Amino acid sequence: MSHYDVDLFVIGAGSGGVRASRIAASLGARVVVAEERYPGGTCVNVGCVPKKLFVYASHYAEDMHEAAGFGWTVEPAQFNWETLRDNKTTEIDRLQGIYRNLLSNAGATLIDGKATITGPHSVEVNGKTYSCERILIATGGWPFIPEFPGREHVISSNEVFYLDQFPKRALVVGGGYIAVEFAGIFNGLGAQTHQLYRGPLFLRGFDPDVQNFVAQELKKKGINLHFNTDIERVEKNPDGSLSAFLNNGEVIVADTILYATGRKPLVDGLGLDTVNVALNGNGTIQANDHFQTTEPSIYALGDVIGTPALTPVALAQGMTLAKNLYSGTDDTVDYSNIPTAVFCQPSIGTVGLTQQQAEQKYAEVDVFLSTFTHMKHTLSGSDEKTLMKILVDKQSDKVVGLHMVGAEAGEIVQGLAAAMKMGITKKVLDSTIGIHPTAAEEFVTMREPV
Ligand code: FAD
Ligand code: NDP
Repeated sequence: MSHYDVDLFVIGAGSGGVRASRIAASLGARVVVAEERYPGGTCVNVGCVPKKLFVYASHYAEDMHEAAGFGWTVEPAQFNWETLRDNKTTEIDRLQGIYRNLLSNAGATLIDGKATITGPHSVEVNGKTYSCERILIATGGWPFIPEFPGREHVISSNEVFYLDQFPKRALVVGGGYIAVEFAGIFNGLGAQTHQLYRGPLFLRGFDPDVQNFVAQELKKKGINLHFNTDIERVEKNPDGSLSAFLNNGEVIVADTILYATGRKPLVDGLGLDTVNVALNGNGTIQANDHFQTTEPSIYALGDVIGTPALTPVALAQGMTLAKNLYSGTDDTVDYSNIPTAVFCQPSIGTVGLTQQQAEQKYAEVDVFLSTFTHMKHTLSGSDEKTLMKILVDKQSDKVVGLHMVGAEAGEIVQGLAAAMKMGITKKVLDSTIGIHPTAAEEFVTMREPV
């Protein structure tokens, strides 16, 4: 046993920090973890979990409308925001308790408080200093909102989960994950919704067919999309509403303006000036593929190091680091073929390369593309379409990219991601028997490249 108070001091009980703490403690390390806000971190409290609950809620309006085609008479439906918000908060409180128990059951000590690094082997929380053999920074990120006049009137994803009142008119700024997901949530829950993106087409980095298809579908659902547009200033009106003055001369009046313009690493007040931890140009912490920073006793992982900002990535990193440190493995995390879903409506599921990336990497790429009407919508009256796309390296026959927009895209693509990780070829996909009648069977029946 080392002469330090603690073997591993973890700063931040979010996705990565909790996983690293639990595994390290279960392997016999003396672990202390400090959390200044909420056990479970962003994902549990103001991220994946409450967001997904809101996505479920926002689907009901459409579902009830579509039920008529199947013979149901649905009473005029009414939505109560307070019920959704408060039920969600009750569930989050329950999950916080579970995270506390997970840590204590594993033998890690959780301290509620802000941790500050005071040297390569020391951390201070609530006025007490701990000597530690190793420190792990797992502090995550924080919403970024650019500077503009009236910035104080807009909210970020941190506040959107706790609104006093649900807006009649919502304006969402940004074109990434959070913006498209919340445009869908506001729209589904009945707000007149505008989404504004500074570039020509949102969801930058996704396959172009996915980007274009999602734009069409969101418009069909009633979301007002404004591309090549930005806000110049926001003014509060006497009735409490907000006027957004756009750079094209237009004015949009809304009750809530949500800025979803990215996140920045959370390192303020962390005490990095007391140690030799180098940062990258974008403010993320430099860490090698074993999560060691430029200060050898200090490690970092999760959103704060700038790897893909996804909970399963932080979990994989936490697991890998803890095992490497305390069970003698020497593993790294494989960042290839990370599947991801965007819970817009219809949702996106994607893994592997976009068409552009595939064409840059391989001499010849076969593109299989299908758009169709989901069987459910033959009676539902909805004009929603589904898109599926497979990219194949013609020489090896390997599937190198797979994309879907449609109901349950994340659920469908998760399994296919495992197949891709095993190097699935198009021939194997073609020889797989479909499950009928499903939308997913289309992935094993696309025969002719476009
Ligand atoms: P975090 O989970 O952010 O945890 C960091 C913790 O450190 C926080 O609890 C913070 O309070 C604490 N902390 C910071 N500084 C200190 C300090 N000095 N002392 C003590 N504690 C400190 N990912 C998905 O995979 N799927 C999704 O559907 C998804 N949806 C999302 C929706 C939203 C609205 C947002 C914002 C994010 C979403 N994400 C999603 C991303 C996901 O939440 C993050 O990638 C993940 O939480 C990162 O985990 P982490 O451990 O790096 O950091
Ligand atoms: P993203 O990085 O995904 O998107 C940020 C958006 O804001 C981009 O469209 C960007 O434009 C735009 N933007 C950035 N700066 C400005 C500015 N100054 N003015 C106007 N627009 C600007 O960030 P999010 O905040 O949506 O989400 C953060 C991360 O959290 C995601 O990247 C993802 O990793 C994770 N997440 C995952 C989810 C999931 O798995 N389902 C759900 C939600 C979040 P441009 O493209 O031009 O740079």
